[in-house]
Amino acid sequence: MKLFLDFEPCVECKEMMNELASEEMLFADDETRADISAKFLRHLTYNHNEVVKAVMSEVKSQKRSPEFDLYK
Ligand SMILES: [Zn+2]
Repeated sequence: MKLFLDFEPCVECKEMMNELASEEMLFADDETRADISAKFLRHLTYNHNEVVKAVMSEVKSQKRSPEFDLYK
């Protein structure tokens, strides 16, 4: 499932996105990467309600579309 999110990342978001995209992260182990991703998702959940709403409505609309059934 692809999600296109349209929102204004705050300073913290940008920091975490930089962290996730950094060279260190490319060579980090799965656990470290999962930690940062979880931290970012938690931040989005608590600070960017519009993102959560966008994801939810995207999930709902994809469930309704006929193509979605093909990949069940
Ligand atoms: Zn943010």
